[in-house]
Amino acid sequence: MPISLTSLNTFGLNQHCDSLVEVTNKDELIKTSLMLYQQQQSMLILGGGSNVVFTDDFQGTVVKVSTKGITINEVDDYYYLTIQAGENWHQLVEYCLTKHIYGLENMALIPGTVGAAPIQNIGAYGVEFNRFCHKIEFLQLDTGDLVHYDNQQCEFGYRESIFKQQLKNLAVITEVTLKLPKKWEPVVNYGPLQHFDAMDVTAQQVFDCVCHVRQSKLPDPKVLGNVGSFFKNPVVSVVDYHSLKNRYEDLVGYRQVDDHYKLAAGWLIEHAGLKGINIGGAAVHQDQALVLVNLGQATGDQVCQLAKHIIQTVFDKFAVTLQPEPRIMGSVGEIEVK
Ligand SMILES: Cc1cc2nc3c(=O)[nH]c(=O)nc-3n(C[C@H](O)[C@H](O)[C@H](O)COP(=O)(O)OP(=O)(O)OC[C@H]3O[C@@H](n4cnc5c(N)ncnc54)[C@H](O)[C@@H]3O)c2cc1C
Repeated sequence: MPISLTSLNTFGLNQHCDSLVEVTNKDELIKTSLMLYQQQQSMLILGGGSNVVFTDDFQGTVVKVSTKGITINEVDDYYYLTIQAGENWHQLVEYCLTKHIYGLENMALIPGTVGAAPIQNIGAYGVEFNRFCHKIEFLQLDTGDLVHYDNQQCEFGYRESIFKQQLKNLAVITEVTLKLPKKWEPVVNYGPLQHFDAMDVTAQQVFDCVCHVRQSKLPDPKVLGNVGSFFKNPVVSVVDYHSLKNRYEDLVGYRQVDDHYKLAAGWLIEHAGLKGINIGGAAVHQDQALVLVNLGQATGDQVCQLAKHIIQTVFDKFAVTLQPEPRIMGSVGEIEVK
């Protein structure tokens, strides 16, 4: 009997899988994933389903990670938090605030699990996961080993890590250890946080502001299915940036440390005239061009057709290639939108 995935993905796509196993402790997560891998069965490790788009029924087993537990170790200048993969990210941010452990507040309200956070190195409002990542524990499926990687080994980048590259489909993240300095340094140089005085702001104020802005800006997946930003902000060379800026005075771009520029993908989509357009039930959000939404009956195919149309139209106008941020899942595994 196929099992519905509708409530297990925030886009609300109506697809099914052959079987579903929910694991609630680390041993079970390790045993189940290893067994499925060794039996060469199609398997999808799923957290909160907030970064996946199902284009088809999944012909395999979905392993839903619901492992729980947080331990805190305190040394002179730092807190070390070891968190099980199935913990909810936003609840972790709230938990840290109640314990007066600060640093994660800029990343409040990012949906999903702690175990998925390192995979695309989640980030928001000027702070990325890797800033506080101390160690990642994962099951390496081809060797069966439980491996620990430090921050460097994870090869974090903008929405990138080794878990999306060499270790794609080979690593089941079981545990994350964060290292948070006791001396809190607020990051308030980004967008709506800029009105705060870094010398006189509290972590709670940053948290409240981030929550308020996100709730007023982003559509709630419970109301309008979505996966947050659908495209990464493209990074271009200085030369390309200036050539675009000469043509489009109000182009939005941020200089990077390596002299490249990160362009606002939402600006490109909006200025390509795509805000609000739809293919079937899949649409570009009326207010946030970077967010694709499910108007009600969207299929994964319609989402992909819309994404392809956006990529092509933006390329034709700006000669910039957008890359989707979510993982697109076909009937037996990940596929690409081309
Ligand atoms: C409204 C909204 C706002 C968002 N805002 C942001 C934002 O500000 N910044 C940002 O970076 N992201 C944002 N996202 C994207 C999303 O929240 C993150 O990518 C999040 O980390 C996904 O977590 P998840 O548990 O839902 O992952 P899932 O969607 O369940 O899985 C994503 C991928 O990770 C894999 N995976 C999940 N858990 C594990 C594990 N334990 N081991 C191995 N592989 C695993 C899955 O197989 C899949 O390929 C947003 C999404 C939504 C819906």
